[in-house]
Amino acid sequence: MNERTHPSIATEGTAQGKPSTCQSCKDTACSASNRREGENEKEFEDRRKLQSRLCRIRHKILVMSGKGGVGKSTMAVNLAVSLMLAGKRVGLMDVDIHGPSVPTMLGLEGEKLHSDDDGLLPVELRGLKVMSIGFMLKHQDDAVIWRGPLKMQVIKQFLKDVSWGELDYLIIDSPPGTGDEPLSVCQLIEPLSGAVVVTTPQKVSAVDVRKSITFCRHLHVPVLGVVENMSGFACPKCGEVTPIFRSGGGKALAYEMGVPFLGSLPIDPQIAEACDAGRAFIHHYQSSPSAAILREIIQPILKLSATEEAAGAGIVSHS
Ligand code: ADP
Repeated sequence: MNERTHPSIATEGTAQGKPSTCQSCKDTACSASNRREGENEKEFEDRRKLQSRLCRIRHKILVMSGKGGVGKSTMAVNLAVSLMLAGKRVGLMDVDIHGPSVPTMLGLEGEKLHSDDDGLLPVELRGLKVMSIGFMLKHQDDAVIWRGPLKMQVIKQFLKDVSWGELDYLIIDSPPGTGDEPLSVCQLIEPLSGAVVVTTPQKVSAVDVRKSITFCRHLHVPVLGVVENMSGFACPKCGEVTPIFRSGGGKALAYEMGVPFLGSLPIDPQIAEACDAGRAFIHHYQSSPSAAILREIIQPILKLSATEEAAGAGIVSHS
């Protein structure tokens, strides 16, 4: 696929042509209720449509990493499935345009997208709503060769034209670094609930995490925390974790940068196996020690909705 052959995400025959009134709220102060200076009718309409989708998603969380191969997609997939197992309505949006691995990790390779009157339908896996550029490629080996503006356009369509419905969480798996994709997500979703930054214990990876945190600060995205992945090796027989590399780099860095540390996950052969087999580790190995660690890691993220629910019920903690 190249820049000329734009993927089949045109939504003719779906919601196009209909007036897309934003019925999410009657808030006249909402940024989507008034046309911005210099905005034409189409841009205004698009922004309203985008806002009306986003208003139905309570928490939007970006999963980032400074480097590739540190387990960012693994974390995004398991975070999404953990939240679902905790009873939440969850979407998983893979904006790793050049290397989408979410379909493989969830055994959804070869799935194709369909649409209805409301827009493109995400692929559903036991209630988890998944969207990835991988579903639009004719062949798994196709390479996507796009520049920044086209990537931004596709990410916008993922948000605006996909029928996400009501969600408690949308987990967004972005490619490593601080390039076009995470930037587009931060610019399109205002406000993002926060970012989870994944790193490995080594200094080379931790140094890049600083850049991710600085990026978030520039864009006013709260850093929900740092996860140190591949922190030691979990013995497949007894579960004991052996520190094969220096560990603690992620924790030290989180402390130094003044952001929360969410936890350390060891290298666990079952995690790698589950990813390769297209099964969510947290679902298929629920009783393993690494699954327990993952459940701990998501607690602050689960608390985002718990705090909201408590506030809605009039239970306000003053601690
Ligand atoms: P990234 O998204 O950062 O590029 P991935 O999530 O694709 O990284 O992970 C790269 C590889 O490492 C995958 O094959 C995945 O299964 C494996 N992996 C990630 N985390 C772990 C872990 N804690 N234990 C074992 N294998 C892991």
